[in-house]
Amino acid sequence: MICGIVYDNAYLMHEQSHTHPERRERLSYTLDQLEEEGIFDLPEIKLISPVPAKRDDVLLVHSAEYLRFLEETSVHGGIIDADTIIPKDLIHDALLAAGGAIQAADAVLNQEVKNAFVLARPPGHHAGKASGAGFCYLNNVAIMVRHLQRRGMRRIMILDWDAHHGNGTEEIFYDDPTVLFCSVHQYPFYPGSGRIDDIGVGDGKGYNINLPIPAGSSDKVYRYLLEEIIIPLAEEYMPDVIAVSAGQDNHFSDPLTGLALTAQGYARLMQEMCIVADSICYGRLIAVLEGGYSVEGGLPYTNLGLIAAMAGLDISGIREPAIYQELLQKSVSEEAFPKVLKMVSNLKKKLSNHWYFIHRSY
Ligand SMILES: [Zn+2]
Repeated sequence: MICGIVYDNAYLMHEQSHTHPERRERLSYTLDQLEEEGIFDLPEIKLISPVPAKRDDVLLVHSAEYLRFLEETSVHGGIIDADTIIPKDLIHDALLAAGGAIQAADAVLNQEVKNAFVLARPPGHHAGKASGAGFCYLNNVAIMVRHLQRRGMRRIMILDWDAHHGNGTEEIFYDDPTVLFCSVHQYPFYPGSGRIDDIGVGDGKGYNINLPIPAGSSDKVYRYLLEEIIIPLAEEYMPDVIAVSAGQDNHFSDPLTGLALTAQGYARLMQEMCIVADSICYGRLIAVLEGGYSVEGGLPYTNLGLIAAMAGLDISGIREPAIYQELLQKSVSEEAFPKVLKMVSNLKKKLSNHWYFIHRSY
């Protein structure tokens, strides 16, 4: 199977400041690792160059006023919030990130590749219809989803496994049954949203699934959620494409978060999602990078793990260097799993009228 990687050195251009967590080293260290492993020489990998998204693509998701604000503020620079300033020329970088996601979608639909991973910056999942936040300006995944639908894909499942709740994506699709949004995130945590009670409104009721998990959640927790909720959801919803908002800030070495997923755990998550995609939607899966701030110990190995899984390569050797093992022991909490069992039980009560796989177990 061929995995497309959407990347261009222009994705290193955006920078709020040298010390900001969302900085260019997030990708440059990953690129070094991929090159060292010879990933780009493999027949299973196709490098795809992004082109900027068009205004029409963006306006399928964001308001004209918000887009104009980004365009005008990009002339001299400005600010959205304390974590999210608008550097000069921001709009060009933001459009190239969103355009990369569109290129990935087209490559998959045109059968040039089976699946694709968009290694873009800046990220997008905190950006709502008319707002940016949390390092995000344009919602890359949402723009891609609307593009996929414009090209005839009816139902899309978005799995957002970033450590932070994908509040922007949730807001955009909250009343829309044609997009199933499922977010796994640390809770309580930034941005404060992502409760199990928030299941959508109107026709979209039941199609917004939040899986809030405590700090210290390890590979075991993610595996459980995959088997208990995420895979059955996908099998019942039968999406035409699976999109993954791939935040790599669940890694145990991430400086901003408290979760405890390993690179091997990430690779297995992606491998399982690819198997699901194979069984229900011809393998059509597109991952878009969101967060992930462990520049040296996390991102190079988690990103490599995802790509290896998507390309059907052997993932058994995916792991961080041994020097990080002690940090892993400190990061895992044994108290997390029982809390997750309780959360899932409560969530099932709220969703049993909406999903047969839950209803039949009562
Ligand atoms: Zn995040």
